[in-house]
Amino acid sequence: MFDAHLAALDLDSQYTALDHVQAQDVVATLRKSAFSSKDFHTLISPAAAPYLETMAQRAQQLTHQRFGKAMQLFIPMYLSNLCYNKCTYCGFSVEHKYPRLILSDKEILAEGQLLAQKGFQHLLLLTGEAEDKVGVDYIAHAITLLKPSFASIGIEVQPMSEENYNKIIAAGADGLTLYQETYHREAYQKHHLAGKKKHFAKRLDALEYGAKAGFHKINIGALLGLYAWRYEALALSAHLDYMKKKYWQSQYMISFPRIQEMFGEYNPAYDVRDQDLVQLICAFRLCFPDLGISLSTREPAALRDNLVGLGITQMSAESNTAPGGYSGMDSESQFDISDHRPLPLIQDMLKRKGYDPVVKNWDRVLS
Ligand code: SF4
Repeated sequence: MFDAHLAALDLDSQYTALDHVQAQDVVATLRKSAFSSKDFHTLISPAAAPYLETMAQRAQQLTHQRFGKAMQLFIPMYLSNLCYNKCTYCGFSVEHKYPRLILSDKEILAEGQLLAQKGFQHLLLLTGEAEDKVGVDYIAHAITLLKPSFASIGIEVQPMSEENYNKIIAAGADGLTLYQETYHREAYQKHHLAGKKKHFAKRLDALEYGAKAGFHKINIGALLGLYAWRYEALALSAHLDYMKKKYWQSQYMISFPRIQEMFGEYNPAYDVRDQDLVQLICAFRLCFPDLGISLSTREPAALRDNLVGLGITQMSAESNTAPGGYSGMDSESQFDISDHRPLPLIQDMLKRKGYDPVVKNWDRVLS
């Protein structure tokens, strides 16, 4: 499993070695016509930061070659904010005392109807982690309720066994999002203080169970701000290489969520500046040309607009991170979003930039 592979990689040494990359190494790498995952180290190094403009131009060209000018749009729907884990950075953490909500069938259908009427066809279902009340059967049932109204449904919920992922796929989901949050073991322990999420390896293993179960689309990521972003980038690239080789049938996507304000208060331990995010996106685009890259409404509108051309293939829109939030129910959200624009404004922005905003099934667009 990837946990053992990760332990053998000695990421600490790789991270330290990034400081030894020289400007001439970056220049030589950027002269190449194509990049491999071996070039990734050079492109995320501090020495590559002054070459962001060149990286951005190459990333833009490559994205247009591989993905055309289509931008897939999706919307998250939270089914519950009940969670038994204690994560330092999250508004759903068990330590925060407020009434928790689990949407009923009627409430799920009402939220789904609203989102389908707005024109969304891609839905991401999210929950906290509370297996006894919001377990596999509840989530699978929610998928069967919503499936008739949406072309694609993904989940971002607690890690599951292969058997349970099979139930989720049988109910109609095709996408699995499971972020490791941080790949740095000590930082992971520092930020996951109680509950099942304390187990670093179990979370990593679950992604492989999902691939074995046959999820068509798999989305990995790290929550930027918990540890040094270049360390997370090295781990994510190794994780992608591993998954793509071992479970080649799935399509892969990556996300770089940066920590946002939430109920309670959390200040990110590590700063991730806008230019760092740009370097990260460009390096992944150049070294993993077929990789989907997702950008959420955590980021502010102006930055999202500027990042559109650099390698992003999927964006969320109109997100609300509280269960029942679209229907105006009174419940607590997971974190604050920054880009509050409604779908038509996001579509207008994309069209002005020459992009085709796609709300229906990606496969149908490509076929
Ligand atoms: S990050 Fe996930 S597991 Fe942790 S408290 Fe929030 S909802 Fe629960």
